[in-house]
Amino acid sequence: MKIHDCDVLIIGGGLVGAALACALRDTALSVMVLEGRAPEIEWDAASWDSRIYAISPASRRFLTGIGAWQQLDAARTQRVGQMLITGDDRRARLDFDATAAGADELARIVESRELQRALWQTAATAPNVQLLAGVKPTGMQFDQADATITLDDGRCLSSRLVVGADGVQSWVRQQVGIDAQVRPYQQWGVVANFECAKPHLGMARQWFFDDGILAWLPLPGNRISMVWSCNDATRAELLALDAAALCERVATAGDNALGALQLLTPAAAFPLRLVHVSELVRPNLALVGDAAHGVHPLAGQGVNLGFGDVEQLARVLKAEPSARCGDLMVLRRYARARRESIYLMQGVTHALQHLFNNQNSLLKPLRNFGLGLTDQLTWLKQQLIRHAMDS
Ligand SMILES: Cc1cc2nc3c(=O)[nH]c(=O)nc-3n(C[C@H](O)[C@H](O)[C@H](O)COP(=O)(O)OP(=O)(O)OC[C@H]3O[C@@H](n4cnc5c(N)ncnc54)[C@H](O)[C@@H]3O)c2cc1C
Repeated sequence: MKIHDCDVLIIGGGLVGAALACALRDTALSVMVLEGRAPEIEWDAASWDSRIYAISPASRRFLTGIGAWQQLDAARTQRVGQMLITGDDRRARLDFDATAAGADELARIVESRELQRALWQTAATAPNVQLLAGVKPTGMQFDQADATITLDDGRCLSSRLVVGADGVQSWVRQQVGIDAQVRPYQQWGVVANFECAKPHLGMARQWFFDDGILAWLPLPGNRISMVWSCNDATRAELLALDAAALCERVATAGDNALGALQLLTPAAAFPLRLVHVSELVRPNLALVGDAAHGVHPLAGQGVNLGFGDVEQLARVLKAEPSARCGDLMVLRRYARARRESIYLMQGVTHALQHLFNNQNSLLKPLRNFGLGLTDQLTWLKQQLIRHAMDS
């Protein structure tokens, strides 16, 4: 019988890949994670990462279950108790409140690098998980029983199952020729952190303009993190502004809701795209996270969707003997279980993006009316909150 180097080889040890390694800890499966970049695990405690995530209660439960949430520095996380959405007609508002929905919080804000550190360190303590950082695959071949992967340091590995967790440009997906329809939104996510003059009281704010969406997410203390989904002209303008002018521009765009702003971390921009992937599994292969789907960040659900993939894939793998982990019949259970959540999230974020990023003069009053109406419908609001919290 052939001796495999591992049962599950996860290519990409970002948030989603590292979470899968944690979810498979203490199982009979031997797991390896191949990460091209060694993750940052130390930084100046006074600095704040400009990449932050709104972690849904469902993802928080999952992260707690795999032992990673407990590794976070709680003082660097922020509860979101309320969310206020304002339309381009400033009178149209939609307000979500956790307490009114009978929940502790709508989401919890966590820095990307802090979550990455917690996941990476949790995975490192698992006896059945081996982490290989600073190495990349150069080739991959499948035969009936397994996959053979060559690495850029000359090593060669064999695994029953390869999991592509290598992000939106997935090398794994390209190697096996799985088709991905990438539709750029012609928009950028410009991120930056600010200190604000007034307390945010745990409220997330979002403004829908007819040429973009501005989000302010609360950070611990009087700090906020901005994600401004905007067109290329606005991106270029924002990145060219000096600190004082950027603060002024962002404060004004947000109706000076938190008073004057001071820049904490310089602005950076990420391209936004919708990615539809035709297949999530093949024999001895599965895709998770951004390798499997790309969504607009307006609902802050990208990484939450990835954690949902991981939870489901781990559930399916744990229910089978290790020798069957690359079996297509087993992997199809994962793909079937995820299809609806992925399509729903892609559909909703795409439709909202389209509805608001639209100059049509008929749509403008309609969408503002829709916001105001939803705000009046308590039952509908509670359903929306529950869905966002469970996803
Ligand atoms: C502006 C912006 C704001 C966002 N805000 C939110 C939010 O508030 N909430 C939310 O849920 N989501 C948000 N998202 C989405 C979120 O960032 C992604 O969904 C999430 O990072 C996906 O994680 P991942 O691990 O699948 O992929 P990635 O984070 O891309 O990780 C992939 C990993 O694979 C490694 N890798 C790549 N290629 C190779 C290779 N060939 N070999 C080895 N390793 C490789 C990379 O180094 C990386 O570590 C936002 C996205 C953007 C652009």
